[in-house]
Amino acid sequence: MTTVVTLQPGADALAVRSALQGLGQWVEPSHGPDGGVAAWTLQPHSAWVAPEALSGLPGVAAVLRPPSPHPRLSARAGVGVAVGALTLGGGAAPVLAAGPCAAEDEATVEIIAAAVAAAGGRLLRGGAFKPRTSPYAFAGPGRVALRWLREAATRHGLALVTEAMGEAEVEAVAEVADLVQVGSRNMQNFDLLRRIGATGRPTLLKRGRSATLLEWRSAAEHLLAAGASGVVLCERGIAGADPELRNTLDLGAVALLRHVDRLAVFVDPSHAAGRRDLVEPLARAALAAGADGLLVEVHPNPAQARSDGPQALPFAALARLGEAVCAASHRGAQP
Ligand code: PEP
Ligand code: MN
Repeated sequence: MTTVVTLQPGADALAVRSALQGLGQWVEPSHGPDGGVAAWTLQPHSAWVAPEALSGLPGVAAVLRPPSPHPRLSARAGVGVAVGALTLGGGAAPVLAAGPCAAEDEATVEIIAAAVAAAGGRLLRGGAFKPRTSPYAFAGPGRVALRWLREAATRHGLALVTEAMGEAEVEAVAEVADLVQVGSRNMQNFDLLRRIGATGRPTLLKRGRSATLLEWRSAAEHLLAAGASGVVLCERGIAGADPELRNTLDLGAVALLRHVDRLAVFVDPSHAAGRRDLVEPLARAALAAGADGLLVEVHPNPAQARSDGPQALPFAALARLGEAVCAASHRGAQP
């Protein structure tokens, strides 16, 4: 979005330009009828700066910004999302969310929750309902697993993030989840977004595999317009040119959303890579790009996992990742 800074009559245009440049702004002139500079247009690759810092400069008449296509989301710039006792984004320390791809049985969920807590994780992930490409693949145990996940998360002091795949289960998921997950395949399922938003729960919105940033932000706006208390965007890889990786992790999008839009953004390196040996390097890169959290799949015996085994981390690797997240926590501690 282009911002235009107009000048007061008789203002020293070059002095205003220097002041803008001093704030990290790259500017282009707009000339008035007399041929003099009437305004400076800020280039989109300029540094982020608070509007008040611009309007307060000597010689500036007004700071004009076009209306946002997603005003509720834009209004949340720099504001963290409250999830239980945690704050996600808004400058808070990054957090680790980890768990199985699918909740498989009660005992395994418990073992995994204990390992997530031991690794310093703050949220338990895991699906009771799984979107699967094949109708014959394991699609999760269904509603019964919501209780397993909630109880294990509570026992280990973790918040719970779990997916609502269809409208029919939204209320049941919202009852147990601290953060309701919208899966990649459902990013533009607007009826589902409205239903989830109406619960008032904060939501983790995964990016559609071929979604532009504007489509993704607009989907977040649907959630907020319907009543969601906050949205955390989750980059999980998009369609790429090469089949060797499951998806292409778009870290440029993460940097832009985090540093320019100043929105809360997570990265899921598991679904991006599709293979466990690349999860840790991608996770570290995500933290360096500014991710506010990681969403990672883990399993006590990845070879036996009923879904996404090749990308599941064993517990030892999860512990290493926990240390990496802790080391990146220079932005301040979580309670
Ligand atoms: C998941 O995280 O459980 C999942 C199904 O991922 P995605 O929606 O990104 O494919
Ligand atoms: Mn999975």
